[in-house]
Amino acid sequence: MKILLLGKNGQVGWELQRSLAPLGELVALDRAGDVERGLCGDLQDLDGLRQTVQALRPDVIVNAAAHTAVDKAQSEPELARRLNAEAPAALADAAQAAGALLVHYSTDYVFDGGGTAPWAEDAPTGPLSVYGTTKLEGERAIQASGCRHLIFRTSWVYAARGGNFAKTMLRLAAERERLTVIDDQFGAPTGADLIADVSAHAVRQTNQEPRHSGVYHLAAAGVTSWHGYARFVLDTARVLKPELPNKAQDVAPVPTSAFPTPAQRPLNSRLNTARLRQTFGLVLPHWQIGVRRMLTEIL
Ligand code: NDP
Repeated sequence: MKILLLGKNGQVGWELQRSLAPLGELVALDRAGDVERGLCGDLQDLDGLRQTVQALRPDVIVNAAAHTAVDKAQSEPELARRLNAEAPAALADAAQAAGALLVHYSTDYVFDGGGTAPWAEDAPTGPLSVYGTTKLEGERAIQASGCRHLIFRTSWVYAARGGNFAKTMLRLAAERERLTVIDDQFGAPTGADLIADVSAHAVRQTNQEPRHSGVYHLAAAGVTSWHGYARFVLDTARVLKPELPNKAQDVAPVPTSAFPTPAQRPLNSRLNTARLRQTFGLVLPHWQIGVRRMLTEIL
């Protein structure tokens, strides 16, 4: 099996380099591509992407690249649309022509965040931001292309590598006596490693069972708020490394309105993952298991 991976250095892309490697020949590109081999990895270059797929003729294309700066996307909608909608559309057309399976990632931000029930895959969408809107356009373009595809909508992604919410909380707790954290947005922190491992399983199974093609919700089990997440991070860090500087006596819950941002976020980001678990026979561990593991790695 030949696999083309785009966005190899993002949170999910980095973990995919590990999880996809045992499946076959992996060609992993970042936006600079592979100049020597004439391969383009830049999502802004639609012709370059098409030519790369034509030249490589991969069995599987995995797109882990995207415009993920949610607030910035509000002021650069053309770029967000290019990366999140037009590039996936070009990849989908190229995948269809090459008979390849396209694996792509989308987001809880395609929903408007109303209610408290976990969203099923076929629940009505209603993005609140440019990021959510363009990600939804990307999903629709892939579905319309007719290519075999796996679209994984995920939420609150973290990885041990690079910056993340937990590291920010640990830094702030070392500096401040009081932290304020949003307590009215609910979701499940989901590790990039889990997303990558599930992706590899699903690729193998979908290559044998093309009817598995479709949209799936992929998030860790359980639910929390950002406030609950912060409390868990600080409590766990205290146990794992008691000598860690921690001035924060108080982690105060505040509403979303306390932190105005250019992009509006959904309050309810709970994702119903039953379809994924049943189709692929997988178990999605509780979010605390992955976060504790990540903290053990970084502390
Ligand atoms: P990251 O922001 O960690 O990685 C995105 C990658 O895209 C980066 O490596 C970035 O490269 C690359 N990229 C940006 N512009 C281009 C371009 N023009 N050409 C090629 N590559 C480019 O994202 P995640 O790993 O967190 O996200 C993976 C997927 O999951 C995305 O589809 C995202 O929408 C989705 N998702 C993420 C969530 C989250 O909380 N992070 C939540 C829900 C869904 P560079 O580093 O060079 O900029």
